[in-house]
Amino acid sequence: RKHLPMETYPIPMVPGPVKVSEPVLQAYLTNYGSGDIERDYADLYQRTQLNLQEIYATSNEMVIMTGEGMLALWSALKSTLQPGDRVLAVASGMFGFGIADMARSIGASVRTVDIPYNQTITDWQAVERGIAEFRPKMITVVHCETPSGTLNPLQRLGELKETYAVPLLYVDAVSSAGGTPLLTDQWKIDLCLGGAQKVVSAPAAMSFLSVSPRAWEIIEQVNYPGYDALKAFHGVGESGAFPYTPYWHGTAALFAATEAIVREGLENSFKRHADVAAYCRARLARIGLTLYPAASAVQSPTLTAVNVPEGIPWAELDARFRRQGLVVGGNYGPLANKVFRIGHMGTQANRALVEQACDVIEKAVQQG
Ligand code: PLP
Repeated sequence: RKHLPMETYPIPMVPGPVKVSEPVLQAYLTNYGSGDIERDYADLYQRTQLNLQEIYATSNEMVIMTGEGMLALWSALKSTLQPGDRVLAVASGMFGFGIADMARSIGASVRTVDIPYNQTITDWQAVERGIAEFRPKMITVVHCETPSGTLNPLQRLGELKETYAVPLLYVDAVSSAGGTPLLTDQWKIDLCLGGAQKVVSAPAAMSFLSVSPRAWEIIEQVNYPGYDALKAFHGVGESGAFPYTPYWHGTAALFAATEAIVREGLENSFKRHADVAAYCRARLARIGLTLYPAASAVQSPTLTAVNVPEGIPWAELDARFRRQGLVVGGNYGPLANKVFRIGHMGTQANRALVEQACDVIEKAVQQG
């Protein structure tokens, strides 16, 4: 890496891990006892489940595990799929196609509905045709494609799942949950995956997902036994019988972070994200930068994906940002060096912070 190394960021704008607030950091400063023994830990786990249920608009059980987002993605696939099971991956970006590859790697028969990376689902006929012809056991989709800055609409997908009696709808909501409505029950989502270090704004230590009653039935049938298996988490909040040593510090931080969102009120959080996103995009337009998502795509309020301007190589632009204390997200795969991301999610969905970031971007782009 050629860039200026930095341990902490004066102007943090990476789309996860995001800046962690003081109360969340404070949650680490206790010498907790054993989560296997103390009922206090199970109570904390249950209170965290309740907060997450509110953020997810669901009455489904939330599973909370030690790990980060990918753990939720893998555990849900491995716990419900067997070799030969059919999976329809509605894919509009790096994570959508990546999930298709993950399902293939565990032996599933996968078909994709391909959507360009800068678009969101609009061709519902193609999606419906895929479901009707392929008759999948599971449909997978990503709510916010973080590399692209886009947000897929999910209501209709839930309706199609019901119409065609597809057993499982799997949604990656890692970078949307908490920053934009995520109507898990209304959208009929069976497995809804989240991570702590995005909008929730806790360290990258905890992974969580909602599991519907239908998904629990399938998990029982499949009976996957691995370290990342979901089966052993069913009902652990009540029983206190965790499958392995619980990470009390991590859960305490996740509780503090979710408590902040619930106290703020979800509607207020959604509005805060929408407002900073609108401000950021208006400023970028004035600076003369263009956005990566196509005009017809839905953009996520949790981050903005920006085209690297012609004439300034990404490494140079990144170096200019860093010299002013700003760190944004670069990109991967086909978007590497072409698109950068401003992560205004969670604690970073802050008007003053985004203004500061835009000031730096303006200077960096206009610098000769
Ligand atoms: N899914 C999406 C949409 C993401 O943006 C990310 C992380 O950037 C992940 C999954 C994986 O999360 P983690 O990096 O916490 O494992």
